[in-house]
Amino acid sequence: MSQKYDVVIVGAGPSGLLAAKAIGLSGFKVALIDRKSDITRLDRLCGQTLVSMNDYYFGDIINYNRQGKRIAFLNSGFSFKYDGPVKNCNAWHIFSPNGNRLPFGLPEETRKKGDQGAVGISYDKEILFKCLLEEVEEAGVDVFTGINVSEVSTSSDGAKVSGGGQVFEGSYVIAADGTNSRIAKLLGFNRDRTFYSYLLCLGWYMRNVKAPELDILMSSITQKTVAPGLMFVFPRPYEDDLNVAFLALDPRVKLEDVADYFMKENPFFSQWFKDAQLLKKYAASQYIYSPVKEPYMDRVLLAGDTGACQELENSGAMISGWKAGSAIAAALKEDKVGMQAIGISNYVDWWKSTYIEKCPHEAYLMNFAMPYVLDREEDLDYIFSLVKDPLPPCWNPYAAMNHMGQLIQSLIPTIQKERPDLMPKLAKMSQPMTEVLEVTTKACKPLAEFD
Ligand SMILES: Cc1cc2nc3c(=O)[nH]c(=O)nc-3n(C[C@H](O)[C@H](O)[C@H](O)COP(=O)(O)OP(=O)(O)OC[C@H]3O[C@@H](n4cnc5c(N)ncnc54)[C@H](O)[C@@H]3O)c2cc1C
Repeated sequence: MSQKYDVVIVGAGPSGLLAAKAIGLSGFKVALIDRKSDITRLDRLCGQTLVSMNDYYFGDIINYNRQGKRIAFLNSGFSFKYDGPVKNCNAWHIFSPNGNRLPFGLPEETRKKGDQGAVGISYDKEILFKCLLEEVEEAGVDVFTGINVSEVSTSSDGAKVSGGGQVFEGSYVIAADGTNSRIAKLLGFNRDRTFYSYLLCLGWYMRNVKAPELDILMSSITQKTVAPGLMFVFPRPYEDDLNVAFLALDPRVKLEDVADYFMKENPFFSQWFKDAQLLKKYAASQYIYSPVKEPYMDRVLLAGDTGACQELENSGAMISGWKAGSAIAAALKEDKVGMQAIGISNYVDWWKSTYIEKCPHEAYLMNFAMPYVLDREEDLDYIFSLVKDPLPPCWNPYAAMNHMGQLIQSLIPTIQKERPDLMPKLAKMSQPMTEVLEVTTKACKPLAEFD
């Protein structure tokens, strides 16, 4: 016997929760389903920052209302309560292996502007889930936990999902089941996507890390492992704690080796971790594909990371979730009134123009692929040694790559003179990502299950 709803949403991450809130507030009947038994539990490594607080991101700009304890998306016109701790992230610095810095913003400057100088905020995602879940329940949404959706079918007037012996039917389904979505796969959304690589992540909440600043985002790379490894350091909103993640695209890399390299072997970084206490361990893994270009098919709409290249980030997942929910609410109203349907096509247009066209996924992937372009640690040490002025403050993966491209352009005459051997490597930055990541893609392929 199936349970009938106007909309069934699969996945109660940031995108599914915001979609559920938008539709619930409109008065339609919504089921929100997640495989987790407790939606507020974080079971996957996340930096727990909101990216891009000082810049437009997917057409939106985000503000943290400290007094009212709300996070507001000013252009889309939604906000939600977040009553947990917050720490401003006051810059993003990429370090070369010997410690030379590429600074996106100087914290000594951005700190002076207080909340309006922050490039991002760090928060506690479990508290954010709790706050969002309360709002979703207040909006009248029926929440079902512990249901792993394993099947989906569609018809001309609705879609059906099932898992754990339960069946849910809706006039529409929103797939918000995250990166490597099962629903997207089952319905054939992955057919035209390009597979690039894995993304494997291991990390810890840490205390007593002696990093030079504890209120900025930091990242670096190593070439000392079998294939490149990366480190991302995110401030936590609790005292001076940090969230430190080690990443690789290539499954031949052992993440423990990446962690050991940064924490024990590299002369610059190992000093930071001498007295570090490892508090809690997290991991994440996924395949990286190019994004879905048509996020709607047969009464199923994709929201958040479900259709994204690797991820939209929490900020993008929330924007996309809210917009997907609003689009489906509009579609339901259109169906009931008998109007011409434009709600969903508006969302699809937004997805294509704001995400696919203005935020090219290849620029995003360059955040991970840089060590495949400059493939010796010394190369990055040298290029970063040329950086004299800070780049604009940002915690926005698209804007950062743009600023970096401009910086490298401005350094070309010097590099040409001093290190002409780097020119062919830098030219690789404008090659298709399939070529940049070719070796890694080949290493992943035998292990990947494609559609
Ligand atoms: C290492 C790492 C660090 C990151 N750091 C940051 C950061 O600092 N800032 C930032 O903005 N973003 C960051 N992100 C990205 C961010 O975590 C995601 O973009 C965001 O969580 C996407 O939200 P979502 O709702 O689309 O998907 P998810 O958060 O993945 O939620 C999907 C939900 O669907 C559920 N689900 C999945 N399959 C099923 C199924 N079959 N049946 C039922 N339920 C299902 C899952 O349990 C989950 O609750 C990071 C990601 C990684 C991997």
